[in-house]
Amino acid sequence: MPRYAIISDIHGNLPAFQAVLKRMAELDVSEVICLGDIVGYGPHPDACIDLVVKYCSISVQGNHDEAVVDPVCAERFNGAAKEAVYWTRDVLGPLHLNALLSLKPTAMIGNTVMCIHACPFPGPTDYVHDKQVAAWAFRGVDRPICLLGHTHTPMVFEAPTPNPDDILTAPELIAYLPQDGVEVKLEPDRRYICNPGAVGQPRDCDPRAAFAVLDTEAMTFTVHRQEYDIAGVQAATQEAGLPTVLADRLAIGA
Ligand code: ZN
Repeated sequence: MPRYAIISDIHGNLPAFQAVLKRMAELDVSEVICLGDIVGYGPHPDACIDLVVKYCSISVQGNHDEAVVDPVCAERFNGAAKEAVYWTRDVLGPLHLNALLSLKPTAMIGNTVMCIHACPFPGPTDYVHDKQVAAWAFRGVDRPICLLGHTHTPMVFEAPTPNPDDILTAPELIAYLPQDGVEVKLEPDRRYICNPGAVGQPRDCDPRAAFAVLDTEAMTFTVHRQEYDIAGVQAATQEAGLPTVLADRLAIGA
């Protein structure tokens, strides 16, 4: 059955990732798709890469994954994010670094789904967080459904036309903020950008891990939220010597 678990922005948070894997096993999914940022911020990059390699049939490269293996890209990062990129590069061995290096920027599932980490079209920002940016993003999408992450906020944007050549404006789009366990119906005569939120560092003021299930038969996208051991990963973050702010923000989901 074509039910895909969609995960993104794990960010080296192993307790969150394990809790999500356990939960998705109960949801009868057939494949797991990772939209990138396996590492960066969190204290368990190696274990998270291992689980992605083991469980994900498709995995695209996020900007943090890229920065860890590309020093030029790392220079564009600031503050705690940059510090975490350097820390991650130092602790990973050649096999794990190579796994990040071999990730592709995009992947397709047949003619239906495009997978990418951030905005698929050059626009005002890489973060598809509102209808304005989504209108730009749709220009880079030639499939009915585009899955992306990067904002760490679960969202769905709906375009009123199935034609990828139609130029869209923000007022024409519908934005949904999917609630835990509530299906968003994907209509056949429209197009969609779907973001499952972040497994390892949610930023929508809900500290629970986020992921989604895309059912390409029933045509639904359902976000799920999962509690995990936040205190445990906070302690590991401190112990690793990573910036304190990276541990603190996990408790508030921001
Ligand atoms: Zn991220």
